[in-house]
Amino acid sequence: MSKISSFVLTILCFVSLLSCADQALLPRDLAYVWKADTFRYATIQAYDTATQLLKQQLPSYTGKNWAVFVDIDDTILSNRTIWTLIALGKETNSDETYTNYHRHAAMPAIDGAIEFLKFVRLKGGTIILCTNRPAIERPFTLENLQNQGVPFDALYLLEKDAQNDFTHDSTKHLRREAVTKGTLNDINGKPLPAMTSLLYIGDQITDLYDPTNPANTFDAMKEHFKTDFVVIPNPMYGLWMQHGVFVPREVSRSELDSNTPPVTQDLNQILAN
Ligand SMILES: [Mg+2]
Repeated sequence: MSKISSFVLTILCFVSLLSCADQALLPRDLAYVWKADTFRYATIQAYDTATQLLKQQLPSYTGKNWAVFVDIDDTILSNRTIWTLIALGKETNSDETYTNYHRHAAMPAIDGAIEFLKFVRLKGGTIILCTNRPAIERPFTLENLQNQGVPFDALYLLEKDAQNDFTHDSTKHLRREAVTKGTLNDINGKPLPAMTSLLYIGDQITDLYDPTNPANTFDAMKEHFKTDFVVIPNPMYGLWMQHGVFVPREVSRSELDSNTPPVTQDLNQILAN
C-alpha cells in the first residue's frame, strides 16, 4: 500500500474513532484542544505576545545577530491526533507510536505560529527549532515543517554532529548554550554565528529553561515571562503532570495518572491553607 493511501486509511479510521469518541465523550483535555475556540485564541494570543515582546526588545538590542529558540511539538505542530488515539486505547504511549505517527508528516500547524515566525524573518532574526524528537525523525520532521509552510533556519533534534552531542539533551540546555557559543549549523550545513536568543517559546518548561538547576525556582524565573519566555498552552501531557519530577517517556499515561494524588487530597491541602 502506498504511503498516501495508507495515510488516507489512517485518517478515515481516525475520523470514525473521533465520531465514537464524541459519543463516549473525549477526556476534557483533548476536547478542549479539539473543540474550544478559547484554546485557539490562547495560542494566537501567546504568539501575539511573542511578537510584542520582540518589538519591545529589538530597538535596544545592540548585537549583530539574534535568534528565537522555538520547540516544535504542540508549539508549532499539533500532536492532538496521536494523543487522542492513545487516550482511546488505540495506540500505546511509546516512542515507537510517536515516530510512526510523525512519519506521516501530517501534523497541522498551531494557530499563530507561522505568522509569528514570518515576522521574525521579516525582522532579520534566525529561527532555531529545537525538538526532543529522536534523530531518526529528521527527514519527516523536515517534510512536515515544509508542507505546513513553517519558516526556519536551523533544526536540532536529539542527535549529534561534528561539534555537538545533543543525544541526551532532554532539558535542551546544551542546545541553548550552543546558540550562544556559535557551534550550530543552519539547515544547509552553514555555520551559524554566536548569537543571543531574544525569545524562547514552548509548551514545556524545558523549552524555556532547565528546571533541574536548583537556582531556577518559580520565583527566580517568573520575570522572564514579561521579557523573553512565551508558553503555548498544552493540557494534553507534559512535565506539569509529574509534580516537578522527571518520569521516563515510556511510563504510560495511565501509570502517570495513577501516580497523581487524588483530587480530594489536593483540595484538602488547599482548604487547609
Ligand atoms: Mg513541545
